[in-house]
Amino acid sequence: MSTREVILTGDTPTGQLHLGHYVGSVRRRVELQDTHDCYFLLANMHAYTTRSHQPNEIHSDTLEIVRDYLAMGINPEKSAIFLQSETPAIAELTFLFAMLLPFNRVMRNPTLKEEIKVKGLGDNYSFGFPLYAVGQTADILAFRAHAVPVGEDQIPHIELTREVARRFNKLYCGIDENVEDDAPEMKNGVFPIPRADVGKVGRLIGTDGVNKMSKSLNNAILITDTPKKVKKKLGQLYTGRQSMTDPGDANSSLMQYVDTFITDETRAAEIKDKYVRGDNIGDGHVKVEVAAAISELLEPMQERRAQYEGDDETIVDIIRGGTARANARTEETLSMAKEACGLDFFSRSITF
Ligand code: ATP
Ligand code: MG
Repeated sequence: MSTREVILTGDTPTGQLHLGHYVGSVRRRVELQDTHDCYFLLANMHAYTTRSHQPNEIHSDTLEIVRDYLAMGINPEKSAIFLQSETPAIAELTFLFAMLLPFNRVMRNPTLKEEIKVKGLGDNYSFGFPLYAVGQTADILAFRAHAVPVGEDQIPHIELTREVARRFNKLYCGIDENVEDDAPEMKNGVFPIPRADVGKVGRLIGTDGVNKMSKSLNNAILITDTPKKVKKKLGQLYTGRQSMTDPGDANSSLMQYVDTFITDETRAAEIKDKYVRGDNIGDGHVKVEVAAAISELLEPMQERRAQYEGDDETIVDIIRGGTARANARTEETLSMAKEACGLDFFSRSITF
């Protein structure tokens, strides 16, 4: 059995992947896949929380996300890319964990509240919408994951996951809820307490200059965007600055793009310095330079992606292989959890 730490993270097929995914999570995944056992989840069940009327789109976005993964450097020989909907232990653990969390605790999750607001869900969201936060604790714990590479918005979800793990370990394995994550007695619990692994850019702002770049908010630069599109989208980024001699805000969204995408650090510092002092540097000029840097980053990704265009069979084969590996791990967890909480009447197996 592997002694490497386990990594679990993933994406919901609510659209194609964008630069926020790359800098917030996928770049880190590509590093981790050489040293960790990595599982990357296609959260297609969770897409139904807001898109149940669009099953065909969920299906095709699921395949497109895999193409984006491959484009960004995820290697399916090293990492398991798998389907949530074909990993039944996750659904079973969701049901069980829902009993361990007070309803009000789930609803207090600030990321849920924010999503309800920015996605305009009002009072009409489905019962399944808040349930996805419980489901996400099961996504992670089903793998007995040690770390979860995610953007900043996911921290409240990881907090909830840590609470569930501690509560389960306390109720069914007799481990004090307050012991340290790496205390020796943790070995007697079913679940390690997972930590969030937030990268250098935890929250990339979208091209609206306000909200987090997000698939659902129409403010994203996609991995597949052409140089022309990148330039156009960046051109729309609102900064509020009037002229090239206005002192600019060092923390503006445009400066975040400079920090994130201009890889030549001396040049990035020079732009920032001039911008903050209002030393004859226009927003338009900075945007053109950032757009060129982004397209340079995307070009090799798009070349890799082109190899998989129109070939759904290869993509499905990759998902099938990853899902078999995911089931091997999660069925093991489920039987450990069932044994701990008195649901172990007989064993079962899943074959592919
Ligand atoms: P949706 O609008 O449907 O919520 P999304 O664009 O927020 O989609 P998710 O599938 O919810 O994407 O997130 C997948 C992963 O990417 C998470 O780890 C999330 O934190 C990270 N991520 C998404 N957007 C950004 C961003 N703008 N900056 C940093 N990380 C991000
Ligand atoms: Mg999101």
